[in-house]
Amino acid sequence: MSAGPPIHWEKLLDRLSRFYGRGDWRVPYLRDHAENPFQVLIGTILSQRTKDANTDAASAKLFARFPDAPSLAKAPRREIERLIHSTGFYRVKARKVQECAREILTRFDGKVPNELEPLLSLPGVGPKTANCVLVFGYDLPGMPVDTHVHRISNRLGVVRTRTPEETEARLRRLLPQAYWNPINPLLVQHGQNLCRPRGPRCSECPILEMCPTGIARRDGRPTPRPEDRPGPKRSVRRREAGRPASGARRRA
Ligand code: SF4
Repeated sequence: MSAGPPIHWEKLLDRLSRFYGRGDWRVPYLRDHAENPFQVLIGTILSQRTKDANTDAASAKLFARFPDAPSLAKAPRREIERLIHSTGFYRVKARKVQECAREILTRFDGKVPNELEPLLSLPGVGPKTANCVLVFGYDLPGMPVDTHVHRISNRLGVVRTRTPEETEARLRRLLPQAYWNPINPLLVQHGQNLCRPRGPRCSECPILEMCPTGIARRDGRPTPRPEDRPGPKRSVRRREAGRPASGARRRA
């Protein structure tokens, strides 16, 4: 069951797509962005807990040297670590991507699986990564839910969930498949630009009138999720917490 009034998904996707200049979201994603499933898989593992710019730089370096499962499986671990260093947690990630490459060779004949269950059995692969491979590697229906998709779906009142996994399960049930694949790229872009975790810029948002959180913030009413209320200024928060204003401490 939806947590808020029904969302007009066509309109929402049209508006976000136009706002971010992404063209028609109905066009199959891979027509313009054909990607290699193996590189989508490894790139998504590298993207965990880092910024896109770090992932892009590290992926470019890694795939220039080791573009496929056979080469990555036998690469020197130290070299992988050096190439992906900028993503953070590089030792753990180097181990995961290499184990992943080896298991793809031994268990799947060198071909990245195109179904959720076998994908989820690979080292370092969780629901978001597995869904990314389906959507961006194979152009199959998938629902990759990261922190942006989770947060915005809750702010829109489409779901009331505590974790991205719960959000994925609810969205799969609520949404017709035609909307699945464009949701992730559009909501991620929106989350990185306007609908940020703190201080969403609702007054500039192209879907404000469809969003109960944005409307409540605009009208000065309590938001459905307390954490989305406009908070007091930082200096007021510090005073309430019994701490001196940061300027005062600097001046002391
Ligand atoms: S109106 Fe505000 S909270 Fe709602 S989607 Fe837009 S930026 Fe996010």
